Amino acid sequence: MTRSIPTVKLLIDGQFIDSTTQQWRDVINPATQEILAQVPFATAEEVDRAVASAQAAFKTWRKTPIGARARIFLKYQQLIRDNMKELAAILTAEQGKTLADAEGDVFRGLEVVEHAAGIGNLQLGELANNVAGGVDTYTLLQPLGVCAGITPFNFPAMIPLWMFPMAIATGNTFVLKPSEQDPMVTMRLCELALEAGVPPGVLNVVHGGPDVVNAICDHPDIKAVSFVGSTKVGTHVYNRASQAGKRVQCMMGAKNHAIVLPDAHKEQSLNAIAGAAFGAAGQRCMALSVVVLVGEAQQWIPDLVAKAKTLKVNAGVEAGTDVGPLVSCAALDRVSGLIERGVAEGATLELDGRNPQVAGYENGNFVGPTLFSGVTTDMSIYREEIFGPVLCVIAAETMDEAIELINANPNGNGTAIFTRSGAAARHFQEEIDVGQVGINVPIPVPVPMFSFTGSRASKLGDLGPYGKQVVQFYTQTKTVTERWFDEDAVGSTVNTTITLK
Ligand code: NAD
Repeated sequence: MTRSIPTVKLLIDGQFIDSTTQQWRDVINPATQEILAQVPFATAEEVDRAVASAQAAFKTWRKTPIGARARIFLKYQQLIRDNMKELAAILTAEQGKTLADAEGDVFRGLEVVEHAAGIGNLQLGELANNVAGGVDTYTLLQPLGVCAGITPFNFPAMIPLWMFPMAIATGNTFVLKPSEQDPMVTMRLCELALEAGVPPGVLNVVHGGPDVVNAICDHPDIKAVSFVGSTKVGTHVYNRASQAGKRVQCMMGAKNHAIVLPDAHKEQSLNAIAGAAFGAAGQRCMALSVVVLVGEAQQWIPDLVAKAKTLKVNAGVEAGTDVGPLVSCAALDRVSGLIERGVAEGATLELDGRNPQVAGYENGNFVGPTLFSGVTTDMSIYREEIFGPVLCVIAAETMDEAIELINANPNGNGTAIFTRSGAAARHFQEEIDVGQVGINVPIPVPVPMFSFTGSRASKLGDLGPYGKQVVQFYTQTKTVTERWFDEDAVGSTVNTTITLK
């Protein structure tokens, strides 16, 4: 078949190859609707080949010295730095976020690569000397085998980099299934990984939708699956892959609340809230989508609206843009529909961002900052994850009322409090049932020395996708209990009890 538009390749056994599938999807620039490339939905046979390639590579990769593995990631982090501008440009073209934010997306992934380069200090076992006479016990953290990752559209650089570097650094091999909406920056990162020295078969990529994801969940040779995406799909992946006997972690949807106490630093708090609610067009799993104004802070609504109005809606490539387009026409329809429902269900639309005029980008999927007040917990705009630049404002009389509201929401991804009171902040930190807590920090994503987490409906599986926890996720602990006999040791008697002496 001849194609005038580029095709996104599969990566199998170190080769970037065209799929033989008949099913393709356009990768579209959300600011212009230009078709950038076509991405294949891999066939079942191609998924099998990718897994077989990873399975074969595991035999030698698992024995590769830890220093050799670490050095690949040292080189990889430099290559990512050297190619940062190009990576950001690819990302902005296919995803829509601003160039600065795209660099942030790559940078947060780069930090995980840097952490992977320190794997020698992370994949350490423990040893207890003389657990019995002449007996020592120690642990080995050994790789599992073939691991797989399934990633969402909103961080097409950072989230793949949450997954394969740490999986590979710990001695596993990997099959990645990127988002079919914006796979191009992910593929460029995979090219750089091979350039850094990741051997053939150690990293493989298949593209596709539900069929490919299900094939990964079911495949008998895949030992662990890391998923990031919506709660609906994540719950399906968790159940299906767990039933197939795999270790699974799913980082899922969100509805992140911030509490604003009347003593908060007003200007700093309003800036932080507007950035976290409307930045990346609200398409962050850690975006703030609900603000609970406590007591006298309820009077800040006009200030929040004024702040939101200062943000500039435009294509991500244009200088000075704060809010780029939504990823797809479908996302635009969904977000616009939810705004309409908010109005119909009785919330007060303080700022309507629908149909902004963006000169030169008339076909882009734009929604500007949108703000509702008078939101109640039974409204669709409160119950659903909007994933657009829409902020819901709720009033509460006390901080405890606000905490109760947040803890009653099914999701527990991120939250924040704005206050000058250490005591209030500490009370909040103790009582709130949310995985990531910010104190005067609106998007408290932990750096890779810690682990991304989440609670309740935002996460399934015990361990996070990077940081110390992921070393546990990608390894199996083996304990070894050993005793060595001196040549001249006198033979002891037969011991029929379970104790070691
Ligand atoms: P999504 O769930 O639609 O897609 C995620 C992945 O699942 C994609 O690779 C997609 O191809 C695949 N998929 C989609 N439908 C499927 C189906 N029916 N069966 C099997 N696989 C399927 O998510 P998205 O829209 O790409 O990303 C946005 C969502 O991801 C939001 O809910 C956001 O909160 C969440 N997210 C969570 C985190 C986190 O760390 N908690 C981080 C980023 C994004």
